[in-house]
Amino acid sequence: MTTVGFIGLGIMGLPMARNLVDAGYDVVGYNRSAAKVQALADAGGRGAESVAEAVSGADVVITMLPDSPDVEQVTCGDDGVFAHAKPGSLYVDMSTIRPDVARRVAEAGAARGLRVLDAPVSGGEAGAVEGNLSVMVGGEAADVEAARPVLETMGTTIVHVGPAGAGQTVKAANQLIVAGAIELLAEAIVFVEAHGVDTAAALQVLGGGLAGSTVLNRKGEGMLARRFEPGFRLELHHKDLGIVTSAAREAGVVIPLGAAVAQLVAALVARGDGGLDHSGLLKLVDELSGRTDSPERG
Ligand code: NAP
Repeated sequence: MTTVGFIGLGIMGLPMARNLVDAGYDVVGYNRSAAKVQALADAGGRGAESVAEAVSGADVVITMLPDSPDVEQVTCGDDGVFAHAKPGSLYVDMSTIRPDVARRVAEAGAARGLRVLDAPVSGGEAGAVEGNLSVMVGGEAADVEAARPVLETMGTTIVHVGPAGAGQTVKAANQLIVAGAIELLAEAIVFVEAHGVDTAAALQVLGGGLAGSTVLNRKGEGMLARRFEPGFRLELHHKDLGIVTSAAREAGVVIPLGAAVAQLVAALVARGDGGLDHSGLLKLVDELSGRTDSPERG
């Protein structure tokens, strides 16, 4: 039986780890706050009290952590993954982090005899629960094939996009598209409401045409009802738009619409709304349009 050490059992990590358990893997989970470790144990996994305990017997180690410093600390820090994982084992980081950090982590892991992949995901909490995430993978082709059965328990679209760090570059592009799509959907909702049109009917027909998208299908209904519980927190999307903004500058390309949306997300985070779902961009469009007391709002 393949043993998977899983670190970071949050909104995404816990359902992903549960899918591994359901597929028959021996999953040993660790998380900073202990209640989430218990949730994995309740689902049939094994709980660990430290990174060392989670990874020392694992054939595959997965991390699903918030940000670049978290991944660097958990992998390269004292008592981290690289100090305790078995040489030859696979280490797969599925968090969204900076491509340059992913490359640095891959080099440090390789120096300890590990096979390292960056494999960030798209599809949100629903995709994590349903096991149909899109996984963009950077690393050596042979290592991607070795990890594929494990990745296929969590996702349905698994694509090798290039060497170490390439998965994170594609994920940054993903976050650019998603933020822009949410902002335009928010603007369309406020626009249609202001004209007194039935917004549910409007979203139904928009979803059937070229304006249709996974963002519209997954976020539209909650946005109409102004339900902004996460999901994907604005503060995490703020982090990702920082990654894409600096990576675009590094590459010498411009992202004018992306930069504008990045500022709107930054405004929401700065005023204390970072804990809301990223569909909370609608809150700002409502306010900028003076429609906070709009009778059409649910
Ligand atoms: P989350 O709910 O905050 O989960 C992160 C988990 O990591 C938390 O449970 C946290 O524990 C744990 N953690 C943090 N530092 C740790 C450490 N040093 N050791 C062990 N555990 C640690 O975030 P998420 O929404 O699952 O996102 C995780 C990653 O996936 C992020 O990079 C995000 O950008 C990406 N992502 C998220 C989504 C989404 O829709 N949510 C979609 C695609 C990609 P505590 O309980 O102590 O906070």
